[in-house]
Amino acid sequence: MTLPSIHSYRPRRLLLSWVGLAAVAAVMVPAVSPLPAWSGILIFLPAHLTLLWAQLSPSCRWLGPVVDKVPGFVASDQLWLTLDDGPDPDETPAVLEVLDRHGAKATFFVIGTRASAHPELIREIRRRGHQVANHSATHPQGLFWALPRPAVARELDGGAQALREALGDDDGAQPPPLFRSPVGMTPISLPTLLAERGWLRIGWSARGLDGVARPDLDAVERRLVAGARPGAILALHEGRGHAPELLGRLLPRLQAAGLACAVPDASSLGADSGRR
Ligand SMILES: [Zn+2]
Repeated sequence: MTLPSIHSYRPRRLLLSWVGLAAVAAVMVPAVSPLPAWSGILIFLPAHLTLLWAQLSPSCRWLGPVVDKVPGFVASDQLWLTLDDGPDPDETPAVLEVLDRHGAKATFFVIGTRASAHPELIREIRRRGHQVANHSATHPQGLFWALPRPAVARELDGGAQALREALGDDDGAQPPPLFRSPVGMTPISLPTLLAERGWLRIGWSARGLDGVARPDLDAVERRLVAGARPGAILALHEGRGHAPELLGRLLPRLQAAGLACAVPDASSLGADSGRR
């Protein structure tokens, strides 16, 4: 697996150096000049806002790399279908039926507490030939970006532990070295913690924006179909009541376009080198 060294990851180095220099300047400039103390806030503000953008914007890779396509699928007819926030006892069984009906394979990025509450669903997902992967222990979606390093580590390791326990004695019970961040957020410590564990941060190339109650399914379907191409990563949600219906609409359209939903080998997913 291609694991980028986070210490030599240039966008992160540049951003954190700038934030550090801006913090020093915000203190020093008012101290050694006639400027009032509050001018330090203005000096620090641009760096602070840039850092905030890097933490909150799912597609931003200034703090660390993110996998947003499947290189090995680009020259094929395959894409990667991913479902977040399960398992859900009211939805997951129906989701599995729809996937089976269309011969589609998917990765379920599940929440640790839900995996612990429904280990039988985790094993059933695996039994049907799909993949289960880590989407944090508790999915702290409002605060994840701002959590201190020990709390982020607990979310990573707690999610993995819940998966291991739910999988029990299944063959290959180790979860794959993949992590999807709640709402795609990037706490400053996340890329370092992932690199230490040898895990990849998995993003998406198209999402339906269906992580809300009662989304407009026509619009969700349109967004996903527009982003469906070989190598794409599609992100959908479970637990809002619409996943089976959405998949029932989407999968025939993907099939009609000659696209197959498959799960890539984790070892084939190299994150990029941070050039954008
Ligand atoms: Zn989520």
